[in-house]
Order: sequence, then C-alpha cells, then structure tokens
Amino acid sequence: MPTELYLLAVLFALLLGLAVGKAWERYKLRDGRWIDRRRLRETPHYMLGLNFLADNQVDQAIDELTQATSFNTDALDIQMILGNLYRQKGQVGRAINIHQALLQRPELTKLEQAYVLLCLGLDFRYAGFVDRALEAFQEVLRLDSRNRYALVNLQKLYEDQHQWAEALRVREQVAKIDAGRRPDDQQILGFLRNEMGVEQQRAGKSAVAARSFIDAIELDGRTVPAYLNLGDTRERDGSLADAVEAWERLVKTVPEQAHFAFERLERAYGRMGAPHRFVELCQRLIDRDPQGWRARLALARHLAAAGQHRAAFDQLLEALPHHPHGLAIHQELWEVLSALAFDPDLIHRYVELTREAVFYLDPHICRRCRYRSTEPLWQCPQCHEWNTFVEERLAPAKDAAGTEAMVNQE
Ligand SMILES: [Zn+2]
Repeated sequence: MPTELYLLAVLFALLLGLAVGKAWERYKLRDGRWIDRRRLRETPHYMLGLNFLADNQVDQAIDELTQATSFNTDALDIQMILGNLYRQKGQVGRAINIHQALLQRPELTKLEQAYVLLCLGLDFRYAGFVDRALEAFQEVLRLDSRNRYALVNLQKLYEDQHQWAEALRVREQVAKIDAGRRPDDQQILGFLRNEMGVEQQRAGKSAVAARSFIDAIELDGRTVPAYLNLGDTRERDGSLADAVEAWERLVKTVPEQAHFAFERLERAYGRMGAPHRFVELCQRLIDRDPQGWRARLALARHLAAAGQHRAAFDQLLEALPHHPHGLAIHQELWEVLSALAFDPDLIHRYVELTREAVFYLDPHICRRCRYRSTEPLWQCPQCHEWNTFVEERLAPAKDAAGTEAMVNQE
C-alpha cells in the first residue's frame, strides 16, 4: 500500500534525522576533521574549571580550563573564557593576544566573530584603549545589531568620555530592545538627559539646559537631580517662584528623597518672606513618614535658627531612634543642648536614648557592587551604575554575635 510505504518512509526519515542530530551534537567539523565535543566534557578539567568559574576562583579556573584545552586546542568557547579570565586578573595584554588569535580563525561564524570581538572590546576598554574599544563594539553591532551587551558597553564608553548625547542615543537602542521589560531603562535615559542639561548649563545655554531637565523628568519622574538643576537654572535666570515650583514638584513626586531640596527651599522661602512654608513642608513630610529622620532634622535646624531650641530638641530626640548612627543628628543635638545651657535633665534623656547606638557618619552603599560612600552618589564610582546608592543602616544583630550591616530598601 502506497500510504503505508509513505508513512514508513516518513518514520525512517525522522529516525535518521534524530541520529544525525545526535551525532552533530557530539561531533563538530573543524579544519576538515571531526572533533568529539563530548570528549572535552569527559575530562575532569573542563568540569572542574567550570565549577571554579562559578565559584569565582579565577586562578584555579584558569589552571583547569588550560588543561582542558590541551585535549582540544580548537575549543573556541574555552579559549574565549580563558581570555576573559586573564582580563579579570588584570593580565589584559594576554587577554588581547588570545582574543586576537581567535579572530584570525578562518572558519568563524558571524555570531562567533561577534562574540570574540565583544571580548576584545572589553579587553580594550579595560586597558584604557578607548578608540579601539569603540571600534570593536561598533564592529560587533555591524555583525549583530541587537547585541545588548555591546550596546551597554558602548554607552558606558561614551559616559566615560562625558559624551552624554551619544550615550543617550545608544541607551535608546537598548531600551528599544528591552521593549519595556526592564524598568531601569527609563531611569537611565532620565539621568543621561539630565547630564546633557548639566553640560548645556555649563556652556551658558540655560534655556536649552532647562528643556533638557524637563525632558529628563518626563522620561522618568524619579530623576531627582533634574528637578534640582531645573530649579537652579530658573533661580539663576531670576525667577525664584518658578525655581520653587520645580523643587516642590520633587518633594511631591519623590517624597522619600525630598531632603535633596531642603536647603534650596528653606533659603528660597526665606527670601520670599515666607519661612513658615518650610515648617509646613517638613511637618507634611513627618506626618507622611514618621520615621523619616531627615525632615525632623531639617525642621530642628530651622527651629533652632529661629531660637526655638526646646522644640528643636524634641524633634531631634524623635529623629534619633530612626538613625542612631547619624552624626548629623548628634551634632545638632549638642548645639541645641549648648543653647539650652546643658540642662542635666535633657542630657540624661539624650544619653539614655543613645546608649545602644552605633556611630557612623552617613553611610551609603551601592546595591550593585557594594561600594561604600559617606554620602549618596548618583553614579557609582566603582561599577558606574546609576542611582544604586541606598542608606546603609546598622541595627543590633538578633544573635549575640555583635552588630550586622543591613541594607534597607532593597
Ligand atoms: Zn557600584
């Protein structure tokens, strides 16, 4: 029967396909000879190397993977990894040699070529060869236009050179690839747009700069420095009321970071003859978040400057338990105590409250690379990521082992 024959033929073809596929998985044609890729995976060195790699033990990983390559000198993936490991160790010349040698291979596919070029770009970036790194990443993108990793590295290179407009253009391509799946895209676009504004401001183009800051806020309402800069630009142009509008918009949109506008607003309200507006602003923030010590500290300073030391003392004592290691609160407390002639009762209350406290200035930590700073930074000096700093709070550990660092808001 022709149908049965046909079915048999289909089944045979299917089985043949499976067998060929399996063989293809095991063997790979290199320079006209078949390489058993499974053999590579059977050597203990390959597996050990990968384990060390996962465990971040660079030297051991290099040892094992180098031994694994002696079984198969052609293995592109292992050579590529080895090069990257040498770069990680700081032996960037060696990394460049390995990756450049791989690029010379005639049989590379387009994708393989793109990945080796990417490694080479990273080597050049690490070595500080900016132009050659730029060239390598651009070449990767010519071979693979949606290579996100190459785009992100290109963006970082432009950032290093303070070429903010170029960095923004590249990040827009990344955002297009991400298609809304990564929430940090908008934030990064906002920060880059803000940096463009800062450059324009420096060049004296305040109208263009103001437009950049407004764009940055439209890109992402949480771009805090854009509000501050917009207000500064408007103030410099003589319109204090408009400046206050920008700073107040920050307080309203990102209340947990309102303190960045405190000094500016306090000064502006004073100049406008309405210092009570600052008291009201702090009070609103305290009502919204009773643990927010920054609004209490700002209010205390404001009250102390107006001679209301007792009210300032009460605010500071309320703030202290929420930020016991903040030297700023302690300094302000002593100034207020001094103004109150070191009233022994007040000092007693203060000492009781601070007995368990740990001292530390204003510690912040990068959520990405754990770089520590004594102030919040918009861009991490170590990993160059944007807006990754959070307050590092110290709290007593639950066991008796001592104190333990805890990172909040993660
Ligand atoms: Zn960092």
